[in-house]
Amino acid sequence: MSDLDLVHATPGVELEARPQLARSLGELEAAVRRDLEILDYPLKPWFRPVKRPDGAHVYDVVVIGGGHSGLCAAFALKREKILNSIVLDENPAGMEGPWQTYARMPDLRTRKSVTGAELGYPNLTYRAYFEARFGAEAYQALKRITCDEWSSYLAWMRRLLELPVQNDTKVHLIEREDGMFRLDAMTSGKNTAIYARRIVLASGPLSTGGTTIPDAIAQGLPRGAYGHVYDDVDFAALKGKRVIVIGAGASAFDNAGTALESGCREVHMLVRRPHIPRLSLIRWTDWSGFLNTYADLDDDQRWKLAREVQRNPSPPPIRALNRVDKRSDFHIHFSSPPMSARMEGAEVVVVTPNGEHRADYVLCATGFSARLEEAPLFASIGRHIALWRDKFTPPDGGSEKFLSSPYLGRHYEFMEKAPGAAPWLKHIFNFSQSATLSMGPTGRVSGLKYGVRRLMIGVSNSFVREDFDQHLESVRRYNDSELDGHPWVEKPPNSKGDPS
Ligand SMILES: Cc1cc2nc3c(=O)[nH]c(=O)nc-3n(C[C@H](O)[C@H](O)[C@H](O)COP(=O)(O)OP(=O)(O)OC[C@H]3O[C@@H](n4cnc5c(N)ncnc54)[C@H](O)[C@@H]3O)c2cc1C
Repeated sequence: MSDLDLVHATPGVELEARPQLARSLGELEAAVRRDLEILDYPLKPWFRPVKRPDGAHVYDVVVIGGGHSGLCAAFALKREKILNSIVLDENPAGMEGPWQTYARMPDLRTRKSVTGAELGYPNLTYRAYFEARFGAEAYQALKRITCDEWSSYLAWMRRLLELPVQNDTKVHLIEREDGMFRLDAMTSGKNTAIYARRIVLASGPLSTGGTTIPDAIAQGLPRGAYGHVYDDVDFAALKGKRVIVIGAGASAFDNAGTALESGCREVHMLVRRPHIPRLSLIRWTDWSGFLNTYADLDDDQRWKLAREVQRNPSPPPIRALNRVDKRSDFHIHFSSPPMSARMEGAEVVVVTPNGEHRADYVLCATGFSARLEEAPLFASIGRHIALWRDKFTPPDGGSEKFLSSPYLGRHYEFMEKAPGAAPWLKHIFNFSQSATLSMGPTGRVSGLKYGVRRLMIGVSNSFVREDFDQHLESVRRYNDSELDGHPWVEKPPNSKGDPS
């Protein structure tokens, strides 16, 4: 009698309706390995090796950036048997992305139920990782994923999936050389050249532009008197000091909270608008039709939708407001954009339409921009990259941020400004935040599920097209049959008795 028969035969015993949970991380890892093995089709790698004349190694794909986007891209490349690939990240292992540095918030803004990083493998979800260690009830009780936990999850996936990540390697410049890309990089203090046929930029929000500082601050204050919240801010040095925070997004509140919790005397937040926007329109984009289809809409449709979604900047989560709103050392000033700034002795003075504010230091939580022409990584090739302003005339004028966004092809590939000037640009796939206007949410956890799939189609297509003649030659030469030798079956060419 089988186990199943026994269950049905025994009164009062019912089949367990809930799925079996892994009882430990070891058990979960075994399950993941089995899933990977079961779904490991096709098995065959399909790349011709490319060498440089000097024998230097050429990667099929170099992924720049080892945050969650880069790791997911590396996992997908592995699944597609594009195995001669590597991920480069400037940070030491575990310090990729913002989670241990400039994300000064206790937990993610993304809800725990959002999936994508696991590429559809249930045992690789954050939920499975959490439940294997703490149990299903603890997961039900979990409100948010902490930043530490998210880092730990990404490190777990990287180890388990054996993703090829090289840390402490900063790419300074992308150049075109001998029909491929040369990446000038610094790895563990040494200059090195890395060659690649394709590049995936998963380098986060800052690599394709930089941080934005309001003109009034950059022009009026010496560099030591202000910083950006994405910098490595020395909060210990701000102990006992007065700080002005400019901006009203999530990072502004997170940094105000961190400053006060680190012992700052007081924080004055200067907000351009008369109030905090009510709606997070980014939330509206969380439906599969949008995430799946946005990149295929025509320019006018994408422009209109993106303009609506961006019509007010995303407000901070309520948790970020609650972190500071009851504190007597926190002061918020609406309708107070900085108009000018100056030093008076050691004191910073920021002038707004509603009066002056005095402090010891200014922290700008004013976001980042896409200024590809100015980004050091693109110093050599940036002038060729098409921007929205080159391809589209907006009916409503349009903001500088939108107009200077890269205008990408349907699979994240850069396009040329002038046709024929740099056709190889389509071999660089921009999987970073600056892709958002062209592709929809990119970089965010919620965009991974659809984005990685689309990215991979583009990368695979581009190789097959480039190597088309070799593939054609290969199918012509195909000569592998299990039927050889059977009396009913034709003889293989050139065998004894073959008339040809
Ligand atoms: C403070 C903050 C909080 C956020 N919270 C959320 C959230 O809760 N949920 C959500 O969905 N999104 C969030 N986002 C948006 C987005 O998910 C994150 O920015 C996320 O980190 C993007 O992942 P990524 O892998 O694309 O880039 P990153 O995580 O930024 O990783 C890019 C990596 O590339 C490296 N790199 C860059 N240039 C080079 C180079 N030239 N050479 C080598 N390495 C390089 C970087 O150092 C970095 O390690 C947040 C963003 C910020 C800034």
